[in-house]
Amino acid sequence: MKYDVIVVGGGHAGIEAALVSARLGKKTLLITILAEQIGATSCNPAIGGLAKGHLVKEVDALGGQMGLATDITGIQYRILNQSKGPAVRGSRAQIDMDKYRIYMRNLVLNSDNLDVAQEIAEEIITKDAQVTGIITHLKNHYHAKKIILTTGTFLKGLIHIGEHKQEAGRVGEFPAVHLSDSLRSLGLELGRLKTGTCPRIDAKSIDFSKMEIQPGDDNPIPFSFRTDKESFNPHQLPCYIAYTNENTHSIIEGNFHRAPLFTGQIEGIGPRYCPSIEDKINRFRDKDRHHLFVEPQTAEATEYYINGLSTSLPPDTQLSMVHSVSGMENAKIVRYGYAIEYDYVNPTELTHALETKKVKGLYCAGQINGTTGYEEAAAQGLMAGINAVLSLNDEEPFILRRDEAYIGVLIDDLVTKGTKEPYRMFTSRAEYRLLLREDNADLRLTPYGYKLGLIDEKTHEKVVLKQDQLKQGLAYLEETFLTPSKENVEFLASIGEDKITDKICLQKIVARKDFDLEKLDKLADIFQSFSQEAKEQIIVEAKYKNYIEKQKDQIDTMKEMMSVKIPPMMDFSSISGLSNEIVEKLQKFTPPTLFAASEISGITPAALDILHIYIKMHNRRK
Ligand SMILES: Cc1cc2nc3c(=O)[nH]c(=O)nc-3n(C[C@H](O)[C@H](O)[C@H](O)COP(=O)(O)OP(=O)(O)OC[C@H]3O[C@@H](n4cnc5c(N)ncnc54)[C@H](O)[C@@H]3O)c2cc1C
Repeated sequence: MKYDVIVVGGGHAGIEAALVSARLGKKTLLITILAEQIGATSCNPAIGGLAKGHLVKEVDALGGQMGLATDITGIQYRILNQSKGPAVRGSRAQIDMDKYRIYMRNLVLNSDNLDVAQEIAEEIITKDAQVTGIITHLKNHYHAKKIILTTGTFLKGLIHIGEHKQEAGRVGEFPAVHLSDSLRSLGLELGRLKTGTCPRIDAKSIDFSKMEIQPGDDNPIPFSFRTDKESFNPHQLPCYIAYTNENTHSIIEGNFHRAPLFTGQIEGIGPRYCPSIEDKINRFRDKDRHHLFVEPQTAEATEYYINGLSTSLPPDTQLSMVHSVSGMENAKIVRYGYAIEYDYVNPTELTHALETKKVKGLYCAGQINGTTGYEEAAAQGLMAGINAVLSLNDEEPFILRRDEAYIGVLIDDLVTKGTKEPYRMFTSRAEYRLLLREDNADLRLTPYGYKLGLIDEKTHEKVVLKQDQLKQGLAYLEETFLTPSKENVEFLASIGEDKITDKICLQKIVARKDFDLEKLDKLADIFQSFSQEAKEQIIVEAKYKNYIEKQKDQIDTMKEMMSVKIPPMMDFSSISGLSNEIVEKLQKFTPPTLFAASEISGITPAALDILHIYIKMHNRRK
């Protein structure tokens, strides 16, 4: 059976990859272990969060599915860090995990150009270091020039609950046992990571009156730029906040000797920023309590997810520690928490297009690349799908720079630095975060999505209009001056603004702390015809003008460095003045540009200078 693109895995990466490929007209096959589980949320029934919300908005702006699916299935919406600057705010939605999965599964099954095969991919077939197909456990041979692996936590997956161990990709699901051997035999470097999840509690057995209620935002904002804001009115459910206490901690500590994490039973490295409760108690012994977020898993709210209580302790310990929490004294555990170890591909094996360097046509996306999180997975899946299609069309790969998108930061970090622990996105990873806001993801990326054929005309036109109004509005603010005349001072007072003592441009007034949308409308007639979204952008950009300009200067320097290409076969060891350690790193990561070299940890400015001079000389000699 012949396809253009085969995607292995129906998780968050695989869905985006398969949909993109099919939407761009390629005959696509999605091979996945259980068709029923396409779009399953293995862990937290929530999408977005700090920096992760940025990724979802970017996926959406490029034409991906995750944001739309979240808007259709969300049961609580919150903007995190609301009181902080716009660059670090993050949208988060609690979703109905059943509805989300069913929505995604049906979407995939109903898509043109997209077939689904419920099988386990076992072996990659290659010819002359180029993929040609896949063999599954049923010995079916599927052929394609492009294969995208999005296998999540399934490669040699091994679950731990106390002393109990079981081979599985997720609880209750077959693992993929043979595929990693096939990848190793192709020369790819694999490692082992670990992640974990918390117990789920029967809602009937929780006393919510003992917990703090955490409602959703009064005016929920949809994730997708394509969801109609006006008619968006989801039914929201509350979450609750509970706390661990000294008793919980002593129960956990008393069972450290049975914790797979400490007994040596688990060998893979876990997520540093999302540790299990036993890890938290061990590392932060001085803390007398930890937050627990008690979150509904579905609209029916029959089971609650205890965010903050990820664990692989034995079942009896899990029950005791849950019972020690106020409000959960009589709690019944429906599903026990567990840890899972799995194989991943060292992402330095990949190019920025997410294609493996050793095997042409083979792409990897999602948790298989050492990341953790649905959003990180979706972003990579989308990019791998786009790049597989572009390559089939003999077109240049689509690579986002670090100044263009969090997606660019994510992929650049992975392929240039690699990761030894599950990688999750943070706003602090982005150097140009003032430019990479959630609210302007459409301005940054929708033109690309349109050009690629993933965004429709109407959506694109809306973004072009927003961009025009933003430009027009900012120019007006910068070119219009107010003098401290009596009339002007009175006008400012009438809109609730302090007086001015010198001639000042309107941008400086809009940049004031309390200046808001209502005031902008009154400031000049021009703004009254602008869309709400454009006005919001105008205010943000006016307020952060100086910082934004500074970041733009830094980007110019970066672009200059990016234009300095490093020849692919360069022999770094022949460059005098570079230390052995630096030569080793350059040889390992083979950075395509001087900028990419600067991003490798341990590469000093002095080494960059030497490299730059050498490249110039090398180019002159040619
Ligand atoms: C126990 C657990 C706890 C987690 N905890 C967290 C957390 O705290 N925070 C967080 O952000 N993320 C967490 N995650 C991770 C989150 O689930 C993943 O990051 C995300 O789902 C990755 O998406 P993906 O598409 O890469 O893979 P997945 O969503 O795992 O999907 C993989 C897909 O590939 C299919 N597949 C695998 N191998 C094969 C094969 N050989 N042939 C055919 N199909 C195959 C599977 O059937 C599945 O459909 C956790 C995951 C698990 C399992």
